[in-house]
Parts: sequence; C-alpha cells; structure tokens
Amino acid sequence: MASHRLLVPPPEALRRPLSIPDRLLLTPGPSNLAPRVLEAGGLQAIGHMTKEMYQVMDEIKQGIQYVFQTHNPITLAVSGSGNCALEVALFNLLEPGDSFLVGTNGMWGQQALEIGQRIGARVHPMIKEPGGHYTLQEVEEGLARHKPVLLFLTHSESSTGVMQPLDGYGQLCHRHQCLFLVDSVASLGGVPIYMDQQGIDVLYSGSQKVLNCPPGTSLISFSNKAKQKVDARRTKPFSVFMDLKCLANFWGCDDKPRAYHHTTSVIGLYSLRESLALMVEQGLESSWQRHREASAYLHGRLQELGLQLFVRDPVLRIGLLGCNATRKNVDLVIEALKEALRHCPRNKL
Ligand code: PMP
Repeated sequence: MASHRLLVPPPEALRRPLSIPDRLLLTPGPSNLAPRVLEAGGLQAIGHMTKEMYQVMDEIKQGIQYVFQTHNPITLAVSGSGNCALEVALFNLLEPGDSFLVGTNGMWGQQALEIGQRIGARVHPMIKEPGGHYTLQEVEEGLARHKPVLLFLTHSESSTGVMQPLDGYGQLCHRHQCLFLVDSVASLGGVPIYMDQQGIDVLYSGSQKVLNCPPGTSLISFSNKAKQKVDARRTKPFSVFMDLKCLANFWGCDDKPRAYHHTTSVIGLYSLRESLALMVEQGLESSWQRHREASAYLHGRLQELGLQLFVRDPVLRIGLLGCNATRKNVDLVIEALKEALRHCPRNKL
C-alpha cells in the first residue's frame, strides 16, 4: 500500500469516454485511414520479438521495397514520423565537418539544414524562393563548388506544392562522389519514384499520407553506397535510438541474430503492413494514375473559378493524397471554396 496521500487527483476528463469527430481529411496529412488499416489497428498486441512479428516486419520490408522500387537489403520502418526518418538518415550519414548540400526551397529543406547544423556538418543551402525547384545544372554547380558528401532534395515540397524532378540527379551526384538523399513523405504512392533507377541512396517517407496509415511510423531504405559510408564512419552516430546498424539488425537486414533495440509500435506496424498490402493489391501504377487524374481535375476546377495556381508548370505540381483523392472529394472542396469566396471581400482576393 502507498503510504502517502495522492497530491494529484485523477483527472475528470479521463472519466469521460474518448470522443473523436468523424472528419474527411483533405490536408497534406494525416489522411483518413483506409477501412482495412483501421481494422488492423483494432487487433490484439503480440510481442515485438516473436516470430509472428518478425514475419509482419519482413512483409513490411518487401512492401517498402515495392513502393520505393528498390532491391536494397537495408530497408525498414522507423518508429517515428517522417521527421524521425530524416534524422535517421542524417545522424547516420553525416559526421561533424562533412560537407552537406541542401535544397532549401521550402520547409523540409530548412529542417534538413537545421539537423545538419546540429550535427556539426558544413551545411551549404541552395537557397531558392518558395515555389522553385532545382535544375541539374544548379545541382551540378553546388556539387562542384562545395564537394559535399551528401545532397538533400525534397521530392514533393508540401509547403509550396512543388514537385522536384528526380531523373538524372542521383547519377550526377555519384559522378561527384556524393550520396543522394530524398524526402518522399508527401509523394510516395501518389507520383512515380524509382529509387534504384534514379540512383537515390537514401529515400524516406511517412505512413500518414498516400498510404492512409496512422502517423507514427516511417519508411526508409539505404543503398549499398550509403551503407558503405555508414560503415566507414570515424565516429559513432550521436543517437543510439536511430543508429542504423542497430535498426538494420533488429529488422533482420544483416546476417546476425536479431537483438533487442527498442519496443516497436506493434499495432502501428500491423497498420503499415495492411496499407502496404492495399498498395500491392491496387498496384503502384494505378495508384499513380488515380492521383494524376484527381489532381488534374482539381487544378482544372480551381482555374475555372478564376484562381491562379502557385506552381505554374503543371509538370512540377504535387497532387492529392491517398484514398481521398477522388473526383467526388474534389467537387466537395470546390463547392466549399465557392461558398467561402462568396463571403470573401473582393479586396482580400
Ligand atoms: N516532409 C514532407 C514533404 C512533409 O510533407 C512532412 C509532413 N507534412 C514531413 C516531411 C514531416 O513528416 P512528419 O510530420 O511525419 O514528421
């Protein structure tokens, strides 16, 4: 029996049942969960180091290899959101003093820059106005000038709507002995990405966007070149939790027996497994096509209202996310927007 009086009483709020509104989510994330993913979230927990859980993890790895279009053995899910995957990449790839070239054309490049600086890397931002993207020539100039060990670009810059082209950038980096890191948090499954063919050395994404999975897990993969850089480190990564060697071992990506590293989000992984299974069932190409069609429809309807899109070139625009990317939802958004515009004073437009 405790011998002290409780100084903090039980909170009244927790005596009431949990109440969550039913909402259609059309922002850049999180997105609504697909019904099959929702069901997976209701299953009972099992131990995170059981053979059944290892099976689920192995299936997730295969699913990530499919959606990333990669054969990399070091492919796994991180216990944490997209930002956490970025830290896994940077904490393992960069050492203090390393030269790091960052595309800063929006919020996510800024984040990479901040983490790089905290690691003590020599960070070189390629500053661009929001709405801009990087040409091969601009990247080549940055590579030649700063001789970085790593280049960071965001595939789909959700803070501006820009879609960064990726063809040729990986090969260019490799000619300059530089690794290529790409954020595909807001694009994976919605637009084509081919990790191996595009020469991307580290690719990461989130669970809560096109995959319609709960937030809290992220996807990441390292090429052999990236692994060699991690193996050749002079110093250990600052974070134990994000140490790639430990994570890779826990995810069965090396030939050693799996050792405890941390307790993974077992239920989050069931959900991720199911969202990847849905992508397999649907097929990547048809997911890309559905997103392309819904996006083109949205862009057209916005222009019909007399609105100008921030990203002028349609090829460079990001689209919609996940199971809510439908014509019906686009119509809903347009009707709501029309209504809002009716109440908006002309001088505010
Ligand atoms: N990158 C991009 C392009 C994003 O859109 C987001 C989230 N909106 C992130 C990174 C960060 O992901 P998270 O919020 O899951 O940490």
